[in-house]
Amino acid sequence: DTNEMTLVFDSKSENEGFARVATAAFIAPLNPTMEEISDIKTAVSEAVTNSIIHGYNGKPGKITLHCSIDMQNIRIEVKDEGCGIEDIQKAMEPLYTTKPELERSGMGFAFMEAFMDHLEVISQANQGTKVIMKK
Ligand code: ATP
Ligand code: MG
Repeated sequence: DTNEMTLVFDSKSENEGFARVATAAFIAPLNPTMEEISDIKTAVSEAVTNSIIHGYNGKPGKITLHCSIDMQNIRIEVKDEGCGIEDIQKAMEPLYTTKPELERSGMGFAFMEAFMDHLEVISQANQGTKVIMKK
């Protein structure tokens, strides 16, 4: 059995919580453990925060969250049409950040990788970024 949902929301920090809770509610029928819910919420937060802070640099923009469930498999996609990432490999290295002045620790992608079973980042400079995660 499959199920999917798409949400489009503004790149505002208050929508980070909305995205977390919406994702948790959507996957609830799978009866996930508290740990699984917490892992997924953290991963969604990190991806959405990245779109807001880095992708759109705090400027207005739209973020698309797409979630699908196929049997027990969860797929989550967070997409922005922001500045994009020049060097994805470098960006994904733990502790690498382009915004140290904002007290960023460069751990977002490392958390997404640790808390999810699969992480894929597709990005092009000036086109935007798509983060695909599976669990
Ligand atoms: P933290 O997540 O620990 O607060 P961070 O956001 O800098 O710090 P990561 O989430 O690992 O660390 O991201 C690493 C770098 O990748 C960012 O500093 C930024 O340069 C780039 N990046 C991540 N997501 C995006 C995005 N959606 N658009 C543009 N650049 C991005
Ligand atoms: Mg981050």
